Amino acid sequence: MRFSAAVLRSYQGPFAVEEVVLGAGPDEGEVLVEIAGCGMCRTDLAVRRSGGRSPLPAVLGHEGSGVVVETGGPDTGLGVGDHVVLSFDSCGHCRSCLAAAPAYCDSFAPLNLFGGREEKAARFTDAAGGALAPRWFGQSSFARYAVVPARNAVRVDPALPLELLGPLGCGFLTGAGAVLNSFGAGPGDTVAVLGAGRWAWPR
Ligand SMILES: [Zn+2]
Ligand SMILES: [Zn+2]
Repeated sequence: MRFSAAVLRSYQGPFAVEEVVLGAGPDEGEVLVEIAGCGMCRTDLAVRRSGGRSPLPAVLGHEGSGVVVETGGPDTGLGVGDHVVLSFDSCGHCRSCLAAAPAYCDSFAPLNLFGGREEKAARFTDAAGGALAPRWFGQSSFARYAVVPARNAVRVDPALPLELLGPLGCGFLTGAGAVLNSFGAGPGDTVAVLGAGRWAWPR
C-alpha cells in the first residue's frame, strides 16, 4: 500500500511529506493502524540536526494514535476498529519485560532509537523503492498508516477524542513517570510543572 508520510532524509534537512510504500501487511503479533493524530516530541526534533546514530532516511513520530484496520494473526488482543494509543517498542522477553517494566527493556535503545527491528526493514520503502529506516519507536507515526507490534498499542475508550491522545504514549507517560517514580511525589504533595503551556498556530 502507498500513503503519505513525513520523511527526514538528512540531519540538516526538513521533514518533507512524500509517498511511501508498505510492501506487506502486519506480521504475526502486529497491527496496521490508520493514524488519527500524532504528537511531536522533543526526541523527534533531537534527531534532526543531531548528526547522530538514528539511521536516515526515516519516518519519525512516536506519539501516534489511531484505529486498527488489520490484525496479524489471532493473538494480538486487538480487533479491527479498536482505537489505540501507540507507545515505545520492547522485546517482550528480557528480565525487565518479564517483570512488567518494558521501559527498562534491555533492547530499548536499538529497538526504538537506533534502527528498530532490522528483520522488518525491507517492507518499508520510499516511492522509488529506496530503503527507509525500520520503524522508529515501533511505529513511525508521522504517516497515514503505521504497522506496530501489538504489545505497544494500547486500546482506549472510543468515546475519547482519538486525535488528541497520542502524547499519552510518550510525553504524558514520561512526565508522570518523573513525578511519581523519580521524584516520588505522593498524595498531598505539591509540585510545580513548568513548560506545559498550550501552543496554537499564530493567526
Ligand atoms: Zn517522546
Ligand atoms: Zn525487553
